[in-house]
Amino acid sequence: MGSGKVTSSEHLDWQGRHVTVAGLGVSGIPAAKALHARGAHVTVVNDGDDARAREQAAELEALGITVRLGDGATLPEGAELVVTAPGWKPDKPLFTAAREAGLEIWGDVELAWRLRGPDAAPWLAITGTNGKTTTTQMLASILKAAGLRTAAVGNIGVSLLDAVLGDEQYDVLAVELSSYQLHWAPSLRAHSAAVLNLAPDHLDWHGSMEAYAADKGRIYEGNRVACVYNVADKATEDLVREADVEEGCRAIGFTLGTPGPSQLGVVEGILVDRAFVEDRHKNAQELAEVSDVNPPAPHNIANALAAAALARAFGVPARAVRDGLRDFTPDAHRISHVADVDSVAYVDDSKATNTHAAQASLAAYESIVWIAGGLAKGATFDELVAKSAKRLRGVVLIGQDRALIREALARHAPEVPVVDLDRTDTGAMPAAVQEASRLAVAGDTVLLAPACASMDMFANYNKRGEAFAEAVRGLAGAGA
Ligand code: ADP
Repeated sequence: MGSGKVTSSEHLDWQGRHVTVAGLGVSGIPAAKALHARGAHVTVVNDGDDARAREQAAELEALGITVRLGDGATLPEGAELVVTAPGWKPDKPLFTAAREAGLEIWGDVELAWRLRGPDAAPWLAITGTNGKTTTTQMLASILKAAGLRTAAVGNIGVSLLDAVLGDEQYDVLAVELSSYQLHWAPSLRAHSAAVLNLAPDHLDWHGSMEAYAADKGRIYEGNRVACVYNVADKATEDLVREADVEEGCRAIGFTLGTPGPSQLGVVEGILVDRAFVEDRHKNAQELAEVSDVNPPAPHNIANALAAAALARAFGVPARAVRDGLRDFTPDAHRISHVADVDSVAYVDDSKATNTHAAQASLAAYESIVWIAGGLAKGATFDELVAKSAKRLRGVVLIGQDRALIREALARHAPEVPVVDLDRTDTGAMPAAVQEASRLAVAGDTVLLAPACASMDMFANYNKRGEAFAEAVRGLAGAGA
């Protein structure tokens, strides 16, 4: 047993092993329980020591798990492995100590991967800066339409550990993975995987764009059937090229243009597959119509193609791709049409919390009154504004960092009227919607796509979207 470290190659018998779980919370508690149930000696360490943490600690201690509150920095004596909550930053002293001791550090995804049974369902994995949740749900919908037992899991509500250890039997899992989760998942080997796009995000956590991209790229490691990349985003293709995959695994591109061989794309309003067909140099398989994608915005058609590529890699027939896309409805606050008032459409994309997402959203409409602003998280707005300027009828700005957007508008779209509400209070949304309605003319779209986080004014992006929808309903009521 030597040093007692738990290493990658070791057959895992948990009996008596000393495992440190870093962080109470949604992943830490189930991880601690699962390891304890397998006979490991578990110590949970947690930075916080508030009433909630004490309550959670008491519950675990009653099972025989050791919990150390108020000190998440020191590595417990005798630790052989660290299992961490995915959000913990890699430069924490606990991890430095673990690395110095030669220990492995696993996140929640790695743990689920290691604890799954020998006949466990294969994983179809999805990451990217934007579109992960939507694409994962589309994929699950397609797999269900093919009659497969599946679920959308991972960074999406249902934890992988629950999915892997629960009683439910699956044929295949649609797995959303964040860059944090991938960072801590060294031995994950998906059946097939997709990176949807890559734009700067979470750089304070990863340290650099290179490190962020490298963590995203881990999703391709050891893929067996297909590495799915975005033809329009070269960085995703580069990651495929760098990945070490199983013999015979193919690189499959998706594109909004006409697909080449080994690609999925769009031809005259039809989603077509030139990858998973006999003689792909001559043939293509129709999968669905663009109008089967909900909503049929360009970035969402790209999401549908990525989901279709993974499903096809798993052998799903074309008909199920169409049926699954038709059955799919996006989660709230993702380009959801709230109402038409005086021939102006009001659309809630509160989930567009970064510039890359907002740009995709703005590209989906011809003439827009844009409601934007909030917490910029260090972003700059020049590219977004320059690319979208010609579509803007007007702009209404709210939130703490609105001056950054106002300045970018002055530089790249000086002719576009801007109303700066100069408000950061939760009650500002009705005024923003009022101003937007004044700027809009028949046929326009008023689009809430803030390009910023919401926490300066709202509890979260859901609340921001709800406030918008309520304000629009108020407008409709006043007009009626
Ligand atoms: P994630 O899970 O990656 O945050 P979501 O599916 O929840 O992604 O979508 C978040 C937001 O990102 C959406 O509201 C939309 O504005 C935008 N978005 C969705 N898909 C894409 C895409 N493929 N490219 C760019 N932006 C996208």
